[in-house]
Amino acid sequence: MENAISERFNSIIQKIKPFQAQLIAVTKTKPISTLEIAYNLGYKTFGENKVQEMVEKYEALPKDIQWHLIGHLQSNKVKYMAHFVSMIHGVDSLDLLKEINKQAKKHNRIIPCLLQIFIATEDTKFGLDITEAEAILKKINNSTEFQNISITGLMGMASFTDNKTQIDFEFKSLNKHFQNLQIFNNGNNINLIELSMGMSGDFEIALQNGSTLVRVGSSIFGER
Ligand SMILES: *Cc1c(COP(=O)(O)O)cnc(C)c1O
Repeated sequence: MENAISERFNSIIQKIKPFQAQLIAVTKTKPISTLEIAYNLGYKTFGENKVQEMVEKYEALPKDIQWHLIGHLQSNKVKYMAHFVSMIHGVDSLDLLKEINKQAKKHNRIIPCLLQIFIATEDTKFGLDITEAEAILKKINNSTEFQNISITGLMGMASFTDNKTQIDFEFKSLNKHFQNLQIFNNGNNINLIELSMGMSGDFEIALQNGSTLVRVGSSIFGER
């Protein structure tokens, strides 16, 4: 088990190396023992998509782990993780940002958040269109109400397809939005520097399109 995980980590790290990107090891549904293996191999940035599961793992594991919440997030769950979460990837509403800001303030923290942009052709995936994202950025921009969050980038998920041209097109469009929205960078609560895109099946295409954070689970830890 440990050797297999180690080999798969190494192979992915080799692929990421030529790019300036960080690996988020997606550990959702995996037992604590698997996270311990990753930790002992030196990987300490984990992605989870359920708050309760992330909290349980946080409590059981060493405190120098960085926890990224990567899935859809309900406002009423923010309070359980506001004291430790390193980054929230799937932010798709102003109301959610208000709640994150409120809970971060209680802990005297600034929580980095990524706006999730809808880029896929399926209508099942969460996310904002570009007009909605702009509207949120305008509201946040230097607002004294939003001093405990920082919008540090965008996140997106490509269509679930084998069509590499389609995936490439979607990641290119996200990167373009990313660059266009950087006009909102204000040196305060908006600083778009992270582009979270790419999973096991498509992270190489994502890297070629400027991803800075790849979220890889099953090709390291096996199928779920
Ligand atoms: C599960 C998940 C991943 C990782 O998926 P794999 O295909 O296992 O690499 C990445 N991002 C999000 C938002 C996820 O929910």
